[in-house]
Formats: sequence, C-alpha cells, structure tokens
Amino acid sequence: MAKKATTKKTETKEKKETKKTTKAKTTEKKAKAAKTENKTKKTTKTTKTASAKKTASAKKSATTKKATSSKSKKTTKTEAKDKPQVISTGRITIKVPKRKKDPYIVTTATGVVIKGYSPAELEEFKEIIIKRRDEIVEQLQLLKEQMMDPNTGEYVNENSPYSLHMAEQGTDAQEREKLFLWAQRESKFLRYLEDALQRIELGTYGICVDCMDEPKHLCPTCPLIPKERLRAVPHTQHCVQVKQQLQK
Ligand SMILES: [Zn+2]
Repeated sequence: MAKKATTKKTETKEKKETKKTTKAKTTEKKAKAAKTENKTKKTTKTTKTASAKKTASAKKSATTKKATSSKSKKTTKTEAKDKPQVISTGRITIKVPKRKKDPYIVTTATGVVIKGYSPAELEEFKEIIIKRRDEIVEQLQLLKEQMMDPNTGEYVNENSPYSLHMAEQGTDAQEREKLFLWAQRESKFLRYLEDALQRIELGTYGICVDCMDEPKHLCPTCPLIPKERLRAVPHTQHCVQVKQQLQK
C-alpha cells in the first residue's frame, strides 16, 4: 500500500510537473506568437513605408515628366518666336521679326510705323544693361550691410538705441543719411535698368518716346536714339536733343 501511495504521490508530482511544463510551454508559445505578430506588424510597416516611398518616387518622376513637358513647351514657344508674332500693349503694336537681323516693327496708336532695332542689335544693349544691373545689385547689397547694425541685423535709424554704438564705429547720422540717399538713387537707377530690359524684350528699346508719334528729326536716326547715346546712357528713352529741350 505504502508503495502504491508513493507511486500515486509521484504520479501526482509528475502530473503537476507536466502541468507546469504545459503552462510554461503555453507561455512560451504565447510569447512566440506575440513576437511573430510584432514581426508581421513590422514587416507590414516596412512594406507600407516602401510603398509610400514608391509612391513618392512615382510622384517625383511624374513631376519631372511634367517639368520636361513644360520645358519642351517652352522650346516650342522659342521656336514660335522665330516666326512673325505680334505683340499689342494697348497703345502700340509690335511685330517680332522673323530673322535676328531684321528690325522690330512698331506701330503707334496714331498709325505711325517705326522700324526699331533688330534682336541682333538689341543683344549688345542687353549685355550692357545686365552688367550694370548686376553691379548695382551688388552695390545695393553692400550699402544695406553698411546701414545695418552688425549685431542685430536691423536697419539703424535716428531713434535706434544702437545709433550710439554705430557712432562709436564712426557711422554718424550724417554719414548714414548719405548712405541712405545713395541707396535711394541706386534703387531708382535699378528700376530704370529693369524697365529698359523689358523694352528690349518687347522690341521697343531705343525708340525715342518723344519722337515716336511725331518725328522731330533732331538726330540722324530719329525716331531711333543713336547707338552711341544708348551705350552711354542705356536706360534713356529720349534722344539727347529732346532731353536737352526737356531740361530747359
Ligand atoms: Zn527724339
């Protein structure tokens, strides 16, 4: 009996142990399952990111394609420029020449037809103006820096608490006033040059605005402003004789 009892006890022990192991195994299984789940989630995430990346790249390529197509459109426009084209500004009509050596044909509101400069001739003035414009942009940048407080990056004025500091640096009120007036003049000149560049694009550059409707024949090229004057004063819209009359 005693033997049997021991066996029973051992049996129960064994059973208990088995139970324990089963429990442990189940926990292990659960943990494994959780891990796998996590892994699957991660994989889904990576797949998602990958697909997102793919969509982004697809979008990018689409934009690039768009850019390319707009570029090719631009090229077509430039090509179209070689063919006769008419621009109307309301007051005047401009016929763009077929060839670079032919003049722009400008028709005024009163019906006067003027032969302007050719695209080939305008090229020279465009270069002069762009060079001057870039110089002025650079000068203006330097002036701005001089008018700025180096510590705050703000413009210094009379009421600025930094004016004393600027005075110490040798930039007194009078000097700042000079810099400001200079910057103002340069900005005005920059606008004139930009306007001149617009007239070059239109093909009306070099036509004296006072002689275009009614030629005064004060200069040999009337109503065109002589090239020499344009080289000297590239933003001008008047032949020198008209300018002198205006100044009187
Ligand atoms: Zn004139």
